Amino acid sequence: MTKSSTVPAVVAFDIGGTSVKSLTVTRDAVLDVHSTPTRADQGPEAALEAVLDEIDTTLAALGDDYEAVGVGVASPGLVDETKGLSRHSENLGWRDVPLKALVQQRTGLPVGFGHDVRAGGLAERYLGAGRGAAHQAYLSLGTGIACALVLQGVSIVADGYCGEVGHGGSGASGDGEPCACGGRGCAETYASAAGMVRRYRRLTGRSLSGARDLVALVDAGDEVARTVWNEAVEALAGITSDIVRVTGVSRVVVGGGLSLAGERLIQGLEAGIAQQLTIHRRPEIVPAALAGVSGSWGTALLGWAAAGYDLDDIAAGYLEKGPSALIREVNR
Ligand SMILES: [Zn+2]
Repeated sequence: MTKSSTVPAVVAFDIGGTSVKSLTVTRDAVLDVHSTPTRADQGPEAALEAVLDEIDTTLAALGDDYEAVGVGVASPGLVDETKGLSRHSENLGWRDVPLKALVQQRTGLPVGFGHDVRAGGLAERYLGAGRGAAHQAYLSLGTGIACALVLQGVSIVADGYCGEVGHGGSGASGDGEPCACGGRGCAETYASAAGMVRRYRRLTGRSLSGARDLVALVDAGDEVARTVWNEAVEALAGITSDIVRVTGVSRVVVGGGLSLAGERLIQGLEAGIAQQLTIHRRPEIVPAALAGVSGSWGTALLGWAAAGYDLDDIAAGYLEKGPSALIREVNR
């Protein structure tokens, strides 16, 4: 690194159902950020090519002053970090795609590969609301509900099937609403954004564009909206309480689209957990500090780690900017 006059950089790709978010960073600056469609509507192969093309384009755009030292890739759905596989992505149509190896072949660079929610958790642990807590859970509440654990300071990863806490939970008695996973009454049918919208429509016949509309209706005194919201929070409190019973985490960081509901969500969760936990330690419930950008930053951290950099060291450089700058520079 010192022998060269070029500045080391990492390119990071947070793959979602409809778009890939690309982030190019040095140790102290954001060089580029943009988003490109996955073309998933044209099939799984097209989506894969779109991702690989995007990686080529981003690397080609890196100026002569910079040298890519690593690539970070985060994938949605079921992800096997150990084997480098995207096992199952509903939106992209991927089944057992060896994404890590494909990116390695394409770029010749070290590749850090992970699950999108676990990447978000990694960003919160090093750069956001999880800093300083040795044991923490990152709950991503949005289209789906998933959890990433950091215990004793180390991100806990299993073979691709961990963290799907939304399928199950307090409502999963077998007689609830059908869930996309094939089960019934999963917490996601109550507490995901889509689940809340669906429940509200079933009870009133009225359509909402998202969870934000539902929260606005709760504020406006709509009784049905209040019921749907309270059931959602109760289901989330059930999941969170189970996580605490098993792991004893002292802090729960709440991210994902639903976290934009802010204090209403945090206070609701705190109250629900207080009812459900007895002898257990009550965790702090805190909103994600990097809401909306934690996936991109976490994916960049995966790239730095793959390139052999120490993440505490890397994080220290970014933290000089503060979380608001980390959000602003990615949303620019
Ligand atoms: Zn389910």
